[in-house]
Amino acid sequence: LTASELAAVRADFPLLGRTVRGGRPLVYLDSAATSQKPNVVLEAEVEFYEQRNAAVHRGAHQLAEEATEAFESARSAVASFVGADDGEIVWTPGATAALNLVAYAFSNATAGRGGAEAVRFRLAPGDEIVVTEAEHHANLVPWQELCARTGAVLRWLGVDDDGRIDLSDLGTVITERTRIVAFGHVSNVTGAVAPVAELVDAARRVGAYTVLDACQSVPHLPVDVRALGVDFAAFSAHKMLGPTGVGALYARRELLEAMPPVTTGGSMVEVVTMEATTYAPPPQRFEAGTQMVAQAVGMGVAAEWLGELGMSRVARHEQELATELLRMAEIPGVRVVGPTDAEDRLAVVSFVVDGVHAHDVSQVLDDSGIAVRTGHHCAQPLHRRFGVAATTRASASVYTTVEEIAAFREALTGVRAFFGAE
Ligand code: PMP
Repeated sequence: LTASELAAVRADFPLLGRTVRGGRPLVYLDSAATSQKPNVVLEAEVEFYEQRNAAVHRGAHQLAEEATEAFESARSAVASFVGADDGEIVWTPGATAALNLVAYAFSNATAGRGGAEAVRFRLAPGDEIVVTEAEHHANLVPWQELCARTGAVLRWLGVDDDGRIDLSDLGTVITERTRIVAFGHVSNVTGAVAPVAELVDAARRVGAYTVLDACQSVPHLPVDVRALGVDFAAFSAHKMLGPTGVGALYARRELLEAMPPVTTGGSMVEVVTMEATTYAPPPQRFEAGTQMVAQAVGMGVAAEWLGELGMSRVARHEQELATELLRMAEIPGVRVVGPTDAEDRLAVVSFVVDGVHAHDVSQVLDDSGIAVRTGHHCAQPLHRRFGVAATTRASASVYTTVEEIAAFREALTGVRAFFGAE
């Protein structure tokens, strides 16, 4: 992005113009937690409520038709943004809900519910589910719970000292017993990009399904679910410039056709009698109840906005930001966790400052108007692997500037002196 393009991008985000902590310009480096929203997204939600608000798929009136049309166009926008067909995107309240939906589908499978093909979703005691040590809890705990419900066994690939997924025991961890391989595309702690091709290949060889947690990749990289070859992918709108309360599950159409429903009730049925119910085809089968229509419309607009900017350009800009963030390692006493070169990692960088508690680091930065995050970032096993309880994390998005990262580094330079740690 040129300087003027970036200035135009920033001008689209009202929140980036505000000040904090007594008039300091906000430096927002917490986009991995949630991104800020451009005007087009805010306006799309308001416009929906002002002009089109109605429940979708049911009403026989003009507003209901318009709301349904807006809801379904948003689905198409999200689908094409990730290289999927419209019928392969299920609206969910977020990535966590999408991952839980898949995990619950695998324990709801009985022949006859969701079609005879639903037996493909049956797990037996001794079946294995494989994850990695780098997972966000949202892509770990649902699988632990699935194991508890079914008697399946959880196995995992470790990470090396740099936080990269260790593929050396791929052949012993992913075996004929493996039914599901679930992994994050990009770590929300280290920004490291997972070796998707190797993992998908290994899963395919043994006939296991792949589940991609694409939360931290979809907002920052061109992501084509079909080219990646995964069976399922989950992502959230709020991390990709869209509203909170909505996300998406991608699943290959033939899998979605076979998948048994999880949440049941209105809108997901065909015929209901007092004795029995038949279910609607996907994606409606997985969208019980009144949907988050305005948020979905906002997510569609966010996807279009990013698509128009061009994800390759977004990725190139953020590569520069990653390099700038990693320069914090030059500051005495600052230790970055994860790969130390910007190759294969995105602009999310977690670090520790020797002799200073992670919470104190973020507090000093906050005093300068710099918003970062502190804690285990919902990845306790990865922090345990690194031998630290907490890290401070700085993360960027398309609207972040090199100057903001320079301001962050400057403030960070003073942290150890402030606490008398040097
Ligand atoms: N996976 C990763 C890698 C994430 O960063 C997050 C959000 N922190 C999630 C899953 C969960 O997303 P959500 O909270 O939007 O459901």
